[in-house]
Amino acid sequence: MSNAGTASLTVDERDYYERQIFDLRQLLEVSKILNSTLDYATLIDSILYSIMGQFKVLRAGLFAKKGIDSPWLSFHRNYKGFEVAKAVDYSISEDHPAIRLFQRQYGCYTLDDLQGRFGSLKGLEALTALKPDLVVPLKVKGVINGIIVIGERIEGESDFTPLEREYLINVAVMAAIAINNAFLFEMTTTDMMTRLKMKHYFYSVLLERMERSGISGKPLSVMMLDIDHFKHFNDEHGHQCGDAVLKNVAQVLQKLVRGEDIAARYGGEEFCVLLPDTDGQAAGFVAERIRSAVARSVVEYEGKRLSVTISIGVAQFQATTDYTAKVIIERADRALYSSKADGRNRTTIAGS
Ligand code: GH3
Ligand code: MG
Ligand code: MG
Repeated sequence: MSNAGTASLTVDERDYYERQIFDLRQLLEVSKILNSTLDYATLIDSILYSIMGQFKVLRAGLFAKKGIDSPWLSFHRNYKGFEVAKAVDYSISEDHPAIRLFQRQYGCYTLDDLQGRFGSLKGLEALTALKPDLVVPLKVKGVINGIIVIGERIEGESDFTPLEREYLINVAVMAAIAINNAFLFEMTTTDMMTRLKMKHYFYSVLLERMERSGISGKPLSVMMLDIDHFKHFNDEHGHQCGDAVLKNVAQVLQKLVRGEDIAARYGGEEFCVLLPDTDGQAAGFVAERIRSAVARSVVEYEGKRLSVTISIGVAQFQATTDYTAKVIIERADRALYSSKADGRNRTTIAGS
């Protein structure tokens, strides 16, 4: 094989190009990982683990917006290695001059850089409490949509070199786009009032899960839930009060389902839950836990202590007859209406 192309390179030059090739390969890997998920929490984990692995740092965390209308960048709970104090508010206002600086002069910053720039770190208490070695803003379409903070490196590693900082910025640019996509996806699939998933998202995951269950033979169940006599409740206490109670039911529901279950707002005062790897009987137990927790739960509203009950219908997926998502939903819905007809505040499991 000819080595004419490399023979003229000095050792330093060869090291430099080898490093560049390595970095580009790594960047490609990071890009693949970041593009493989739209799930916000999973994505943040991937970003932080990629950075920790490549830069051999002990701590990494990320600030991002919690909601589309939030003016704050908040420290995401999936941080790694940092110690957080309960008394500190780990949020940074998007109006802080540092955010405008990041926008104008995009790059990595140290706390000393920022201190030197602004004379004080007022408004950046979240950063001073975390004491990161490096602050890497995330920028997409000219807007700062997050900040990565990186802690000290594993012993023996040098400070961040200019090349490493450049590489970090490349990762940050990709992370910013991925976060923006995941954020938009989250916003368009989440019901703003209850913070539960919306019906269209529920249907798409249900279809995917039905297919998987048909192949694996593992059970899958669906639950439909509806607040009892809610029209009357609204008439008596007002719609605003009804909203507070509705939100509370959603919270109880979200708290009692497992991480792999999907709880959604089906519409109005109706909810649905997808329970993977769960047969009808086990789903019935979960339903009863939710039903009794809702019945016990009290909402205080303008001095009144109020509660509602819910009726539930459960159906286990039947691969031979549940050809569409609509069929299994309708079976759960019929079971729900049996619960209503039998006196409400109860659970019914659909027959196969
Ligand atoms: P049932 O026990 O048979 O379910 O009786 P219901 O009164 O709950 O049933 P119906 O479907 O007749 O009424 C549902 C009520 O839920 C009517 C509607 O005003 C109320 N509702 C639906 N969405 C919301 C909401 O977002 N906020 C409030 N406050 N009420 C809602
Ligand atoms: Mg209803
Ligand atoms: Mg109802």
